[in-house]
Amino acid sequence: MNFDLPPDTEAMCEALIAFAHRDLGGTDSFVAEDFRRRWMLAGKQGILGATVPEQYGGSGLDAVSAVALMESLGHGTSDTGFGFSVAAHLFACLMPIVEFGTPDQQLRWLPRLTSGELIAAHAITEPEAGSDIFAMRTTAELRGDSYVLNGTKAFTTNAPVADVFVVQAVTGPGGGYFGLTSFIIEAGTPGLHVGPPYDKVGLRGSPTSEVHLADVHVPVDNVLGGPGSGAAVFSGSMKWERTCLFGIYLGAMQRVLDSTIEFADERRQFGSPIGEFQAVSHRIVDMVAGVESARLMLYKAADVLTRGGDGELWSALAKIAVSEAAVQLGLDAIGVRGGLGVTTRGDAETLLRDALPSRIFSGTNDIQKNNIARVLGIGRRPPVRRR
Ligand SMILES: Cc1cc2nc3c(=O)[nH]c(=O)nc-3n(C[C@H](O)[C@H](O)[C@H](O)COP(=O)(O)OP(=O)(O)OC[C@H]3O[C@@H](n4cnc5c(N)ncnc54)[C@H](O)[C@@H]3O)c2cc1C
Repeated sequence: MNFDLPPDTEAMCEALIAFAHRDLGGTDSFVAEDFRRRWMLAGKQGILGATVPEQYGGSGLDAVSAVALMESLGHGTSDTGFGFSVAAHLFACLMPIVEFGTPDQQLRWLPRLTSGELIAAHAITEPEAGSDIFAMRTTAELRGDSYVLNGTKAFTTNAPVADVFVVQAVTGPGGGYFGLTSFIIEAGTPGLHVGPPYDKVGLRGSPTSEVHLADVHVPVDNVLGGPGSGAAVFSGSMKWERTCLFGIYLGAMQRVLDSTIEFADERRQFGSPIGEFQAVSHRIVDMVAGVESARLMLYKAADVLTRGGDGELWSALAKIAVSEAAVQLGLDAIGVRGGLGVTTRGDAETLLRDALPSRIFSGTNDIQKNNIARVLGIGRRPPVRRR
């Protein structure tokens, strides 16, 4: 077991932290033109297609290197929302096209999605179907050589700027696992309307909105993965997202931990740096333990994914570990800063606000615990006989 990253991955991370610090800084709020400008830069830097095969303009990284790359992105820019948008694009949209797309679809979409020319969004959640995705009401009806889609999607990351949507809809009677189908839909297709961006507590640099579909005609050639394979496409995207996206939070946590240690050295009360008080130093030690435990768990999940294992258990465990550690680290970083911690737009309060949604997206932490219990067979074992 070797916990060191290969030297070339280390070098990539250092370069990326410097690049993100210099060029990807944002204002913690969404401004469309500035978002697009930084998106193009991220494309040129090879971030948008990190795990996409080289033949489509990507870098062909494995999951472990992708976590390292996301960690560097989260460390380098304080706009965690921008990093989140990049990760949603790459792991929930491009990777499904890599894994389920036809050669024509891959050639048509991937080079422009990796270069930064196009932005993608994945829409599955609906107002009445969040954790329970099989309750979705969006339908796709086959008419001639097109499907006609009707319904409303909610919480679609990147929708306000997206050029391409991966949309899930019910095609089979009664829905269910084989009743969903994925579609690739271009922005501007008649009947597709994007709502105004939500005003969110955190990840404010990542635009999110509803997507309304009213008699949207989609050619059969734009079915992703074949009719009835929507749930498999979605599970595939979550396998990547639940693991690699959360690297952003490792980087953000490390950045705020570093600034917290600096603050504890500089801030003096009762004639001493506050870091000399055990209450403060122990709190920081808890923060270190939180980041390091979450990091181990996430890289373990990425290693399982890289080796081609069924990563459901580890990605669910890691998702919970990282998101809960991020919330706790945000609270502790605010605590160490005292009153300054709760002034707006400081790095500690920003981390806390950005961490809150991480408990919810990619499947809530409650749902991850359901998944873990299912994988472990908890409650389904034969009863133990007692004498
Ligand atoms: C910032 C952000 C970005 C997002 N981006 C996208 C995106 O790009 N595309 C997309 O399709 N969706 C996206 N989502 C939506 C996200 O996937 C859903 O919010 C999430 O799946 C939860 O659904 P819900 O909000 O409807 O909550 P609900 O499912 O209504 O859950 C409400 C509460 O009930 C609990 N609960 C529900 N069912 C169970 C159960 N069986 N057992 C235990 N507890 C349960 C939940 O854990 C939660 O605490 C995003 C969400 C956020 C916050």
